[in-house]
Amino acid sequence: MDQAGADYIHIDVMDGHFVPNLTFGPPVIKCIRSWSRKVFDVHLMINPAQPSLKDYADAGADIITVHAEADPHLDRSLQVIRSLGRKAGVSLNPHTPETMVEYVLDKCDLILVMSVNPGFGGQSFIESQLEKIRRLRAMIGDRPIDLEVDGGVSPETAGRVIAAGANVLVAGSAVFKGSDYAANIAALRNDTP
Ligand code: ZN
Repeated sequence: MDQAGADYIHIDVMDGHFVPNLTFGPPVIKCIRSWSRKVFDVHLMINPAQPSLKDYADAGADIITVHAEADPHLDRSLQVIRSLGRKAGVSLNPHTPETMVEYVLDKCDLILVMSVNPGFGGQSFIESQLEKIRRLRAMIGDRPIDLEVDGGVSPETAGRVIAAGANVLVAGSAVFKGSDYAANIAALRNDTP
């Protein structure tokens, strides 16, 4: 992925509890850390996340994103992540309104809009999320916050996602299909206006 031109390595951590699938945790992230010089963008689909934030920071995460729905003390989690010297992100499931982040905006470095229901790859983009992206972009204003979109991002949807206000795109299926990853990443970039 480094050689193919990715900007970030987005790492989906799933716990089989907050989401129906199970992936991996800090030991695996630590093992792959030395194989990439890119930003490790770690998306925690786990509940609770707060007890293991330091483990993910120690494993090599540069950005740590927690789910608003999985955290009754989101404000504190964001402070903990920043106190570990990492960038703090909040993710919102498709049904979660953008207002969930209204009072923590100044503690966020990144907001991640899930444009599929988290848990599995290969799902179709949920169109209603375009309006949420537009509203979040307006809420963010001139704050230095990345607006990231995860789920169903492909050369067919990337342009609309960017036009709505996102500036970081996550893609799995669209990048790893076939064997020419560099061409797949270029196709995503070429669709952006
Ligand atoms: Zn993700």
